[in-house]
Parts: sequence; structure tokens; C-alpha cells
Amino acid sequence: MADVMDLPFTDWLPRQRWYAGRTRQLTGVAPRVAVPLGDQDGLGLDLVLLEANFAQGPPERYQVIVRWRDQPVDAYPAIATIGPAGGRIGYDALYDAEAARHLLELIATTTTRGETVFAAEPGVTLPVDAQPRVSGAEQSNTSVIFGRAAMLKVFRRVTAGINPDIELNRVLGRAGNRHVARLLGSVETSWDGEPFALAMVNEFAADATEGWDMAVAETRDLRADGDFSAEARRLGEAVASVHAGLSQQLGTQSVPFPMAVLSERLAAAADAVDQLRQHVSSIEALYRRLAGQQITVQRVHGDLHLGQVLRTAQGWLVIDFEGEPGQPLDERRRPDSPVRDVAGMLRSFDYAAHKWLAEGAGSGSVDAARAWVRRAEDAFCAGYAAVAGADPRDAADLLAAYELDKAIYEAAYEARYRPDWLPIPMGAISRLLS
Ligand code: ATP
Ligand code: MG
Repeated sequence: MADVMDLPFTDWLPRQRWYAGRTRQLTGVAPRVAVPLGDQDGLGLDLVLLEANFAQGPPERYQVIVRWRDQPVDAYPAIATIGPAGGRIGYDALYDAEAARHLLELIATTTTRGETVFAAEPGVTLPVDAQPRVSGAEQSNTSVIFGRAAMLKVFRRVTAGINPDIELNRVLGRAGNRHVARLLGSVETSWDGEPFALAMVNEFAADATEGWDMAVAETRDLRADGDFSAEARRLGEAVASVHAGLSQQLGTQSVPFPMAVLSERLAAAADAVDQLRQHVSSIEALYRRLAGQQITVQRVHGDLHLGQVLRTAQGWLVIDFEGEPGQPLDERRRPDSPVRDVAGMLRSFDYAAHKWLAEGAGSGSVDAARAWVRRAEDAFCAGYAAVAGADPRDAADLLAAYELDKAIYEAAYEARYRPDWLPIPMGAISRLLS
């Protein structure tokens, strides 16, 4: 721990893309836990948990794995250099091929170091000899890709509790669901008596296209006769299959429609967004129609949209089961209506079409965009119905309520960060109420 204590984390942490404390006044960053991970060959490697403290409010906790070198190594990117301590130099180990492979090896062999457990899923083989590289994706964690076979996602900001991404990927993977990137392993620890998820390894879908890129590319069928409908249908089937897997493995419950929760969110958003106020009474009226009803809830994705699905040669994969970012873990793991996921996906079709419009589509294109969205929605719901046995559109009020809830969230977000985009959710709200 001695050298770890001397590393200049207070300098290094705020420069990382995944640092989440930018709006707060940082007073210092200190290592609280250091787990030696090196091997008999003297690979200098420490897993470090940091506590970032702020002038006000609670601390944030972060994970960094430190690779120690005696001499500077030019091959690492500048961002990987933490700094000198005790006559050595500390680097972010994920950029070091030998260290990254060693981490995968610890998982492959199911190893415990102190309180930290590296575990492979039963019966899997990990590509421990593959060449590792850090993913270039804009993300809030850091992923290392091994060849074309596996992806190690190292969580950066860590929070106490069960991580839903590992939990649901494990359940679906063990049940043999074909629409998730199979979980291969995980790293978990305990800190101050509470569990913390540190990393997960999934099968890497090497030639996958992100759903968002695919949909935006396929909006060309606004102009010609290309067809996203077939893809949207298969996507609906995949989402229904994931929902069925989750309900079979983790169960369902019947609860009253959560009118109070949705109304509260509506009131908060209407306080912040003037344009929303004219719609409050009609939205409330719709929620009231549902108020007495029992609805079925289960574990769901919780933040489903076109950016959370990958199209591979074999079909669609649903990824990133973390739930709605910014919410506490307990809330993200709470059972919810599967219609929430359906609504999230339908809303993102609308955004895909608007992206095409924003890129300078000609006159008459607003109608073409609407028609494209409708075709994608119809195909998605039909695909969903084919697997689930019920069409989400049959519960029209419920679907509208969750679409409104999502559009209200979008309106609050757009009003704050991208006012030019506010008309997208506002248009949707008007349509849903008409
Ligand atoms: P975010 O901050 O956006 O939530 P994250 O750190 O939680 O990101 P993911 O969303 O899981 O990370 O993954 C980031 C990106 O990596 C995805 O958008 C996708 O393009 C790619 N990706 C994730 N999992 C896989 C996989 N199994 N196979 C191929 N690519 C993947
Ligand atoms: Mg994520």
C-alpha cells in the first residue's frame, strides 16, 4: 500500500473521461484498498479502490488497477500514466497487454485475492492468449477487448450492491438465451462489509453494428424502398425473448399501476419545462384511467434504446443491463413493467428518424419520417407479439403511459442540455395525447 499512497491520484483521476465528479469541488483522492495481484514472476500489479472526497456531499468511489514499472514505457498512451511513487512509475494497467492478460487469467482460473473474487462462469473458456486492446468507445467504464472473443468491462465508478448488468447477464446466459452477449466471468469484492462489482467479461460480438447506427443508416428507406421493418421485427422478437427469459428465471408479480411515481415525475418535469404544463391535465387523466389496474412487473432492462442493442450476423443482442443511469442500484433492480422497455425502444425509433431530418432531408420528409417510425414501431411490436404471445399495443393506454413517461424524461433532458431538440419529445407528447 505504501507506494500506492504516494501516487498522484488527485491529479490523475479528474483527467479521466469516466470521472463523474466534474460538477463538484474535489478536495482530494485517496486509496482506501489495495489488493496485490502480481504473480510469482514479479509482475507489479495492484487493484486499488479510491475514495474521491468533495467540499460537499458524499464521496465517490473509483477503481483503478495499477501496473508498476521501473522505467518509463513510451508505448502507453499519456492518459495511462498515473505518476511516480517510491522510485517506480504507476500506470493504468488496462493499457498493458501483459497485465490485461493476467487479469483475464485470474478470472479463467477462478482466483481469490483477499476479499476479491475473480470467477469464471461454469463451463466457459476464456481467450487468455488473445491480444488485448482498450476499446475506443465513449463509455463510462473501460473495456478491454481480447482478440475477437471476449470483452472485459472494468467498472470505474463503483457503488455498493448487486450489479444488475452482471446479475441479469448471468441469469440469461445460464438459461441459454441467444440474445445476450454470454457472460464469461466477473470480479467482485467486499469493502466495508458491502459487496462491490468490479468487472465483467462477456463474449465479444466482433462484427456487430450498433442498433442506433443501423437504424439511422436504414432511414434511407425514407427515400427508397430499403427496409428497416424486417430488422425491427427481429429486434422485437429478441426483446420479447429476453423478457421471457427474465420472467421465467426471476419471476413476475402483480402490482397496482404506479400512478403516484409517474405523476411525481410529470410534476417535477413540468416545473422545469414551460411547454409541458399545457399537457399536464391530459396526461394525468390518462394515468388516472390506469390507476385501479393491476399490472404485471418483472426484472427488465430498464434503459432500453437503439444504443443498447447490437446487430450481429446471428441476430440482435441486448447489452448493458445497468438500468437507468443516475438511479440508486436498489431502484434499478426493482421489477417494472416490460412495457417500459418497449416504450424506450419505440421512442428511440422517433429519435432515429429525427436525426435523418436534422441531416437535411428535403420537403415532404416530415411525413416520410413519421411513416418510417410507424412502420418500425409496427414491425417491432409484431415481432414482440410473435414471441410474447401478446402485442404491447393491445394494452394501448399502458403503452402510451410509458411512452409519455419516457418523452417527459426526454423533454426535461433536452430543455436543459439541448433546447434545439426539445420539439422531438414535445411532438411525441402531442401525438400520444391526440
Ligand atoms: P455507457 O457509459 O455508454 O453506459 P458502458 O461503459 O456501460 O457504456 P457498454 O454500454 O456496455 O459500456 O458498452 C460500450 C460499447 O461497447 C457499446 O456501445 C458497444 O458498441 C460495445 N460493446 C459492448 N458490449 C459488446 C459486446 N459484447 N460485443 C461487441 N461490442 C460490445
Ligand atoms: Mg452503461
